[in-house]
Amino acid sequence: MKNRRNGFHTLTRQVRLHGELVTCTALRIGAGRSYDALGDDLPVVKDTLDRPVIPGSSLKGALRAYAESLLRTLEPIVQSNGKPQLSCYPLTKPCLFNDKVAALKQEKDADDKLWEKSCWGCRLFGAPWLASQMLVKDLPVREDTWFERFGHRDGVSINRDKGTAQSQKRYTFELVPEETSFDFNLVVDGASDAELGLLLLTLEGINNGQILLGGARSRGLGDVVLNVEWDAVEEITPGNALEVLGNRAIGGDTPTTTWSTERRTGLISAFFHAIDLPGDMIARWQAARNHHREESE
Ligand SMILES: [Zn+2]
Repeated sequence: MKNRRNGFHTLTRQVRLHGELVTCTALRIGAGRSYDALGDDLPVVKDTLDRPVIPGSSLKGALRAYAESLLRTLEPIVQSNGKPQLSCYPLTKPCLFNDKVAALKQEKDADDKLWEKSCWGCRLFGAPWLASQMLVKDLPVREDTWFERFGHRDGVSINRDKGTAQSQKRYTFELVPEETSFDFNLVVDGASDAELGLLLLTLEGINNGQILLGGARSRGLGDVVLNVEWDAVEEITPGNALEVLGNRAIGGDTPTTTWSTERRTGLISAFFHAIDLPGDMIARWQAARNHHREESE
C-alpha cells in the first residue's frame, strides 16, 4: 500500500469520461432568491449568456449521497476485520476526527496513512484531509437542445404550524424543460480499479432512477438520464502518458479507448472483491447482470 496515493509526484492513472445528461422531467437547480420584480422569485442557475447550467458540485453532491447510501447498505454484509468502514457520516460522524488527522499528519508517509484510514466515500469524493479523486465539471447546456424557453411553476408557501396554504404567499419558480441536454465531463485521478468500480456503480444509479437532481423532487422534478460515451474514454496511464502528452502538445486529440460492458462489470466486481463481499453474492450479481444484458440485446 506504500505510496498508494502519489499525488502530483507521479502520474498514476487519469480517467476522463464524456457524455450527455438529458432531463426526462423538468429540472430545477436553484440560484437562490431573486428580487427581480418581473422575473421568477426562484430562478435557476445560469451562465453569463442566460443559458441554464448544472453546477458540477450539484451533480457530485447527488452522486455522493447515493454512493454513501449504497455503501451503508453493503456495510452490514461485509466483515470489516479492522478495515475502515465503507462510508462514514461526513458531517456528524466522519471516519477521521480532527485530532486523529493532526496526529497522522505528524507521521511518516502521512498521506498514505490518511488514505488507508479513510472510508470509501471520502476516498472517492474527498474529505477535509483528503483531496477528492474526482472532479465533475460544470455541465453547460447543449446548444442544439436549448430553445431559450424556461418553464415556470407556481408554488404556495405552506404555513408549517397550521399546515395550511397561506394567502398572499404564492411564488413562482423557474425550470429547465425536459429533453434538454447538458455536456457531461468527469475526471478521476489516481483511482484503483476498485474505486473506479464504485464510481461506475454510483453512476448507474442515475439511469436506475435512484438519483434525482435539484429541487422539488417530490413533485417529480429532476429525473435525468446519463449517456456516457463508453467508446471514447480517455485513460492516461504511465504506459501511454508520453504518447498522450506528445499528442496534446501538437494540438491533437487524446487517444481514447472503449470500456466495454465486460470491462465495466470487471471494475465493479473489483470493488466488490476489495470490500470482501461474499463470493456467492458477487456471482449472483454478475449472473443477474448478464441475464439482463441478454434480454436487452
Ligand atoms: Zn469518511
